[in-house]
Amino acid sequence: MTAGRFAPSPTGELHVGNLRTAILAWLFARSTGRRFLLRVEDLDRVRAGMEAVQLGELTAVGLSWDGGITRQSERQSHYDDAVSRLRADGRLFECYCTRRDIAEAASAPHVLPGHYPGSCRDLTSVERAAARRERPAALRLRADVGLYEVHDLLHEPYTGAVDDFVVVRNDGVPAYNLAVVVDDAEQGVDQVVRGDDLLSSAPRQAYLGSLLGLPPVEYGHIPLALNPERRRLAKRDGAVTLEALTAAGWQVADIRAVILRSLDLPGDSLDAALAAFDPSRLPREPWIVDPADLSSTDAAPVPPTG
Ligand code: GLU
Repeated sequence: MTAGRFAPSPTGELHVGNLRTAILAWLFARSTGRRFLLRVEDLDRVRAGMEAVQLGELTAVGLSWDGGITRQSERQSHYDDAVSRLRADGRLFECYCTRRDIAEAASAPHVLPGHYPGSCRDLTSVERAAARRERPAALRLRADVGLYEVHDLLHEPYTGAVDDFVVVRNDGVPAYNLAVVVDDAEQGVDQVVRGDDLLSSAPRQAYLGSLLGLPPVEYGHIPLALNPERRRLAKRDGAVTLEALTAAGWQVADIRAVILRSLDLPGDSLDAALAAFDPSRLPREPWIVDPADLSSTDAAPVPPTG
């Protein structure tokens, strides 16, 4: 069974950039005969009621998915199993560093930018016992590579950094990188299409998957939606969520049409877009969204009525 997926974190309403990513994940999956799954990544920063809002928004633009919804909050035993396997393979170490410890140690000349400086990698049992009295431990992966290559449909080939990254946080919550890898494998996901803000996480995830003996996935990291200052589009940019746009008089079908046209696809329906979808012709540039244009209903392809 092969599948693609969309995996939103229920931290807020989806904006047009998120909806565009969801539509692209659907197009990639459906155009390659894959199932399309929906997973709610609700281990962290959850805002009450947002899961239902996001699912409603996805449905409103016409997306549907196969099977039920998977929630990370219901899958702790699967993360525990993976942690046990890594531990048994000698792949984990306890880390007691604060952010500040890491920032200080990371300024040493031998530490690559953004890499864990290795402070807790080789603690003695005496040092560990002392550290344990200060604070709980996070678990980090004992990585034995510094780089890892992934197969990415849009960034071929992509090789990126791997360090001793956190797999379980010091509050006991599985880290994003662990949960994603475990879930994708278990759900039969072999195609991961998402925003290119996560491109640099892919080598860590693929490496972790290889240590767990999981089949490699194919990635497609797509250009993000940016505001006119070329920063990641966010709700604070104004009327960029479905709710705000419909309040400003837009029809959902027109919002979808704008998204599809930004991908050089016909805007009438998802099925028409699917029939025309050709990954090799996808725009490789970020989508610049000017909320001022969006919030003016004059910019709607079909003037909204009512
Ligand atoms: N839950 C992540 C997010 O909303 C996406 C994770 C993924 O697609 O791997 O940013």
